[in-house]
Amino acid sequence: MPGLNIRIAPPDIVKPEILATPAADSKRWDSPYDNFGLQPVVSVFVTRQAYIWISVHACKADVEVGGVLVGHWCEDEATGGQFIVVRHVLPARHTRQGSVYLTFTQDTLIDLHEQIENRFEGERIVGWFHTHPRMGVFLSHYDTFLHGNFFPEPWQVALVVEPFSSVAGFFIRQQGGVLDPTRYFGFYEMNGNGGPSVVRWQNLQRIETEPEGGTPHE
Ligand SMILES: [Zn+2]
Repeated sequence: MPGLNIRIAPPDIVKPEILATPAADSKRWDSPYDNFGLQPVVSVFVTRQAYIWISVHACKADVEVGGVLVGHWCEDEATGGQFIVVRHVLPARHTRQGSVYLTFTQDTLIDLHEQIENRFEGERIVGWFHTHPRMGVFLSHYDTFLHGNFFPEPWQVALVVEPFSSVAGFFIRQQGGVLDPTRYFGFYEMNGNGGPSVVRWQNLQRIETEPEGGTPHE
């Protein structure tokens, strides 16, 4: 058929961006399960803008709300350790929302990918978050199913926020792909230009990191 030109694009090879870990300009917040000998495959860095957005969006509602975490998947140029940087959050629009659960559909994901292409070029979905009103911080069987189905990359994480008691944690796969639905990790609050912390989650503890000279965490 003349004029018909079909090109087959090579498959996307997804690689981390090689960068220096921004740990020196960040505040570390540990969960009760950090330093238990668990080995999450990535460390999580969150900008203040993204943290505040999550806190505002995860309001004290009895309906679960959620969305995706948008940013970068990186590898530290010095240590080879992997980390993600959460820079933006997008609420999920086409979810089926009920009083006790939130879910994603293919339409949700298509819509979100479109928004990212238009607004945050070069960034990707590094995970998702949802609230557990009055339920605590864990992944239900269904949450674990959603994570495996819609966020299958080893470096994609799940954040659960309980807005009434102000507790939260990141569920991160460990080496070998194991995802523990009860043990969650803390994160690094990126300072931006310094100033006081904005983190209010009661179950995380501020850890003093070495001011200079190497790798404060791990
Ligand atoms: Zn859940």
